[in-house]
Amino acid sequence: MINFQYTRANDVADAVRQIAADPRAKFIAGGTNLIDLMKEDVERPTRLIDITRLPLKTVEETADGGLRIGALVPNSDLAYHPLIEQRYPMLASAILAGASAQLRNMASTGGNLLQRTRCAYFYDTATPCNKREPGSGCSAINGLNRIHAILGASEACIATHPSDMCVALVALDATVHVTGPAGSRVIAFSDFHRLPENTPQQDTNLRPSEIVTAVELPARGFAANYTYLKIRDRLSYAFALVSIAAALELEGSAIKEARLALGGVAHKPWRDTAAEAALRGQAASEAAFTRAADLLLRDAKGYEHNTFKIELARRGIVRALRQAARGTPQSQSSKKIL
Ligand SMILES: Cc1cc2nc3c(=O)[nH]c(=O)nc-3n(C[C@H](O)[C@H](O)[C@H](O)COP(=O)(O)OP(=O)(O)OC[C@H]3O[C@@H](n4cnc5c(N)ncnc54)[C@H](O)[C@@H]3O)c2cc1C
Ligand code: SF4
Repeated sequence: MINFQYTRANDVADAVRQIAADPRAKFIAGGTNLIDLMKEDVERPTRLIDITRLPLKTVEETADGGLRIGALVPNSDLAYHPLIEQRYPMLASAILAGASAQLRNMASTGGNLLQRTRCAYFYDTATPCNKREPGSGCSAINGLNRIHAILGASEACIATHPSDMCVALVALDATVHVTGPAGSRVIAFSDFHRLPENTPQQDTNLRPSEIVTAVELPARGFAANYTYLKIRDRLSYAFALVSIAAALELEGSAIKEARLALGGVAHKPWRDTAAEAALRGQAASEAAFTRAADLLLRDAKGYEHNTFKIELARRGIVRALRQAARGTPQSQSSKKIL
């Protein structure tokens, strides 16, 4: 058991002040990840700053036709919000593919972005892990690495980011709004999470003492042709082996615009604009989908137990694009090899 202090923040400025005064403090929102990590002795904050009373719980329309989602909007409220269901159903599908109803009721938008990897060695303090203890080594590279990265990994860490929601958000071109001691700034969603390189202890590009206040979605929601396909070992309550957010805008059978992002394959939600560009202007066909999948996976590399994920991802991308093109959106879960 570790001793820690517990305080509440009254407003965003107070939250930033409190965390800046104690660099080993942590914000707590729903607590569904942080408390688990504290119980396992992985996170050892000196203070928990409860941010659940901050006024960041609304979903509001923005002047440019998009939506601003407060960082404390619970995952379930977001998935069932009428504007999300109507205009961004791929995001609703991705959220509902994650965790369980009880967890989604507790989990917040900001906390979902900042949840940590599910690598078992990260949770096991008896084993070396560069993310938990920089410089100690990576137990997964030559260990049980079935759920690990096939894209963007480094010698220091091959962990994946486990979120479903973030895969849809990166595909939708969302932005993350943050406030810190130096003021507020906006981070493109694709720049929010980072690759491990030689500093895997840093999951994101959030600066010390910054708080996430909101996520914004642009107007374009791809509500007609989209799929979030999650492939996992069990049909519910399991993290993705591979997940695919695929969205198209069609003119007849021609692809006017495309979005393609993968979850469960890298240290960050993996969006590939080259694969999207290869789809643009093409007829929506198996050949075009296969070319995009091959392009997206051009640098994929497996380890002893996860090479199967490359073919799984390839088939998943083609299937997700096919479903998106048909306009028969489904929040699909499949435990079968496609
Ligand atoms: C059994 C289980 C199964 C799960 N399955 C899935 C799944 O299939 N898919 C999926 O996507 N997720 C899954 N999750 C993860 C779940 O979605 C996350 O735990 C949740 O989203 C975290 O949100 P929270 O508000 O509880 O975060 P907390 O636990 O409160 O916080 C997590 C981290 O975020 C930081 N933080 C929180 N809010 C802010 C903020 N506004 N600004 C800055 N920092 C902040 C905290 O300091 C902490 O470091 C699962 C979790 C469990 C326990
Ligand atoms: S993959 Fe990353 S999180 Fe897992 S043991 Fe290696 S360094 Fe730690």
